Formats: sequence, structure tokens, C-alpha cells
Amino acid sequence: MQTFEETGINPQIIKAVSELGFEKPTPIQELTIPYLLEKKKDLVALAQTGTGKTAAFGLPILNQINPESGKTQALILSPTRELCVQISNDIKNYSKYLKNIRIATIYGGASAEKQIAELNKGCQIAVGTPGRVLDLIKRKKLKINNIDFLVLDEADEMLDMGFKDELDAVLASAPEEKQTLLFSATMPPEISKIARKYMRDFDEISAGEKNTGAENVNHQYYLSKAKDRFKVLKRILDSHPDIYGIVFCRTRRDTKEVADRLIENGYNAEALHGDLSQAQRDFVMNRFRRKHLQILVATDVAARGLDVNDLTHVINYNIPEDPKTYIHRSGRTGRAGKSGTSISLIHSRELSGLKNIEKKLGKKIKRKAVPSGREICEKQLFSLIDKIEKTEVDEAQIEPFMPIIYKKLSWLNREDLIKHFVSAEFNRFLSYYKDAPDLNIYEEPDNTDKQSKKRRGKESGFTRFFINIGSKKKLSPAKLIGLINDFTGMRDIDVGKIDIMKTFAFFEVDGRYEDDILRAFKGVKYKGINVSAEISKEKKKTGKRTSGRKKSKRKSGRKKRNQNNNFA
Ligand code: ADP
Ligand code: MG
Repeated sequence: MQTFEETGINPQIIKAVSELGFEKPTPIQELTIPYLLEKKKDLVALAQTGTGKTAAFGLPILNQINPESGKTQALILSPTRELCVQISNDIKNYSKYLKNIRIATIYGGASAEKQIAELNKGCQIAVGTPGRVLDLIKRKKLKINNIDFLVLDEADEMLDMGFKDELDAVLASAPEEKQTLLFSATMPPEISKIARKYMRDFDEISAGEKNTGAENVNHQYYLSKAKDRFKVLKRILDSHPDIYGIVFCRTRRDTKEVADRLIENGYNAEALHGDLSQAQRDFVMNRFRRKHLQILVATDVAARGLDVNDLTHVINYNIPEDPKTYIHRSGRTGRAGKSGTSISLIHSRELSGLKNIEKKLGKKIKRKAVPSGREICEKQLFSLIDKIEKTEVDEAQIEPFMPIIYKKLSWLNREDLIKHFVSAEFNRFLSYYKDAPDLNIYEEPDNTDKQSKKRRGKESGFTRFFINIGSKKKLSPAKLIGLINDFTGMRDIDVGKIDIMKTFAFFEVDGRYEDDILRAFKGVKYKGINVSAEISKEKKKTGKRTSGRKKSKRKSGRKKRNQNNNFA
């Protein structure tokens, strides 16, 4: 099918979209339009962002709306106010030449009265966020008992924003006889779950290139302050002594600077960028290919000419703006059945960019804690000992020298001897990491809008907990967050301030998870101790449970939660 005319869509609609500059259907539209005009079966449709999914469901739905009836015939759920407004405007544009089509837009964070007035006038299509939609259904302002279509747009995002309960409730109150359409860029397991739960025997359509990078790649990120980026890079390199990888930077300048600093710090690294002559580039690439060079610091453009793909690690010193670039970079590792790791160093403001990449990738990028000095020293030490153990000894060659060596070292016993050998190699790590600070960010990232910043003050809605383990049991902030995630089985709980004392600690979490925390920490053990967590009475709760659960507030709260402390 080449044209909109061939789909059988109403000419008035086609006229409107051609005025919008739509010449022919996009691949996903080509698949869904005839399907939805013909079949009544539920549908999951997957296509990347920006491929025209709104028209992919909007046009065929519009084509089947009965303008004579004022009843709501289609409900479209979408995660944010902005998206709702956008979808609603898009559909208004498509229906420009149709008579009597009314579209209501209902979202949280704005007065419900205006929206109710809109609903009272009657609308055939309602577009809304799950929370407000549920609210207005309960208040009997929005009636969905006659809908023929229920669309879940960006369902993955709705779940990420914590709308699961609302979504469940809306879906449960929708009539049996309807067509449910799920449109998404990715198909994470939670989406399959929703599809299985709420959709009858459904078909799946996907269009365009698959949104995935290589299969064997672990995607990880480290969150720190922007000024600590280089230090974090060092720690990562130090905790992977056998790394063979590329550090990607955005600009030539960064590339040069990062490489210079690495070389200065004793790493086996070199820069590859456009300012080098062809001969210099060839030289560097050759050394890297032969693995004489462990770390290549490169721009995307310069690395393009490099045919090395068996890297252990790809490090994004900065995350690229275009998710495709990320996918391309990370595709250089995890090849040929080997596993690889793609690491991104980010600060709070880059979290949304990371989210974007996750979406395109169709995989979670897991947060890792920046290793502590001690952890790195342990790793390095182990690697060194391992190397010493595995070193081949050429008896014949070394024999003649042994007598003098024995004589020189005779005053050292075996234990001291080992200490000396190890220290010779290892002192630089010990001294560098002595009293090394924790580079992780635990506070809420500072990238939220004004509204949520305000919220973040005293009324941040955090509950303070007391826990009966502390630094004596090697509890660190990262460990504690790990425990919270592990015990609750949830990744997205917002963790606030953490204070660790010798034998106990305090931590703050999003007050809505109070019960989850209490439940999760019951009857669990940590290093042989029966862990108990209770709500701290020492300091009064910093916030109350958000009452009324206003969606606008929740939205920003959610966002932050997602961005917080999700250590893997
Ligand atoms: P998605 O929901 O898949 O991310 P959208 O539906 O928002 O994508 O569409 C992305 C952009 O593509 C919009 O600006 C839309 O107007 C435009 N678009 C959609 N369909 C077509 C088409 N058939 N031809 C040209 N542009 C289109
Ligand atoms: Mg969309």
C-alpha cells in the first residue's frame, strides 16, 4: 500500500492530513490502519519514537467514530499532560474537515472544572492521563461504558511514572466489548504483562528497525556530580584492571583532555580524533588493534574507521544526544557470544537523556555504585596476586641470578617479602585511594522543575527510618540502597538522606513506601544480624504522606524517584 487513499480512510480525513504534509503512510501506519479498519481484535503495535504512532491509531479510530452520537467512543490514555495535549491537537487536526467531532483532554495538575464542562458537552474521544481519567470516571463525569476503543499510548512510560494502579483501575472499569490497542516504542516485560492481563487474544505488529543493541551487552550507568566525572572514570578503570575498551567523548577537545589526563595518571591510553594526521591515526589504531593499547579515547567520528569490536567495555564519558549513537557505540562490545559492558557516566541533568536512550534501546540501564577506594584496592590487589601466581617462571634463565637475590633479601621473612612485593606495585593505589571520598550522589538530583524543587524542601514527603546495622557491619550508603532495592524488590524507591553510624543508621525514603519498607525489612538478615527497621522517632518525619495524591505533584515526584539511587 502506497497511499492514504488506498487505505479506505475517509477523504475528508485524508485531505486534512495531506494539508499537514503527510504524503504517504509511515510503515507503522501502513500496517495498523487497514488492520484497525477491518479487525476487532486487540492489538499491540510497536514502533520507534517519531514514527507516527498517533496517526497510526488516530486515523482509523477517527474513521469509525459516529459523529451523530455524543457518547464517548474512544478513550486514549497517555502518560503526561504534554502528550495528552499533543495527541488531542493532532486528532483535532486530522478531524478538521469532519463535522461534530468533539475531543476532550483531561489531565491532572489543572482545574477539573473546565475539563468536566468539556465532558458535559459530550465528546466522542477522550484523551487523558490515567490518574485524572480514573478520578473523573469515579465522579461519573466521564462515562466509558460505550467505548469501542481503548488506546494505551506509551504504556511503558505510564508504568514508569507509577500509574500502574490507576491503569489497572481504568482498564478494569472499561466495558468487555471494546478493542484495546497498546502502542509503544518498546516491549519490556511489564508491558507484556499488561497485554496478557487486559487484552484478549491479541495480535502484535511491529514496524521499522528493532530498538535493540547487541544482546550480550550489560548497560550500566554511574551517577555523580559533573565535576567528578574524571575521577569516576578513573575508579571504573581501576576496578577493571583488564579492561580493553573505548572511552567515547563528544568533542575533540574532551577526547584530548581525557586521554592526556589518563596518560599522566599512568594508564595505557591514547586519543583518537580528527586533529591527528592520517599516519598518527593509523599508528594509534594499530596499537589498539594489537591490544598494545588498553584504552582508546575517541570521538564517534574518529572511531568509525576502527574495525575493532571485541571490546570488554564501552564507556560513554558523555552520553550522546542521539540514542542511535549510543546503540552504535555499545554495539562494539558483547560480540561473538562474549559479554560486554556499556557504561555511561552521568550527572543528574543527564538522567532524562539516559531515559530516552533506555526507551530506544528497549532495555533498562542499571545504576551501579561508584566503587569505593577500598573496593578498588581489593580488586587491584587480587588482580596483582593473580598475575604473580600465574607468571611463568623460566628456571634456566633466572637460576644464575638467584643467589644474589636470595642474599639481598635474606633479612626478610616470607610474610614481609610478600608485603614488599605487593606494595612495590600497589602503593600508588593505596595512597591514591587513602581516604577517597564517596563519589555517588544520594540526594535527589537537581534537575527537576521549580514545582518539585519547592516540594523537595521540608515537605518532601520522606519518612525517616532507623535501622540496627551500621558501618561496623560495613554498611555504606550504596550497600544500604542495595538492601532497600533487594528487600523490597522495587527499583524505584526514592531514597533521601542517609546517615550511617557505627552500629546503626538512618535513612529517608519516599513516605508512600513506608509500609513496603517496614514489610520488606521484617525477618531479614544482614551479615548474621536480624535486621530491624522502624520509623525513626528521633526526628520527626520530614513530611507527611502526600494526601489527596494530586497527580501534578505525583508526576514530578515519580520522575525524581525513577532517577534516584537505582543501584543494580
Ligand atoms: P510517535 O508517537 O510514534 O512518537 P508521532 O505520532 O508523534 O510519533 O509523529 C511524529 C511526527 O511525524 C509528527 O510530527 C507527525 O505529525 C509526523 N507524521 C506522522 N505521520 C506522518 C506521515 N504519514 N507523513 C509525514 N509525517 C507524519
Ligand atoms: Mg506518540
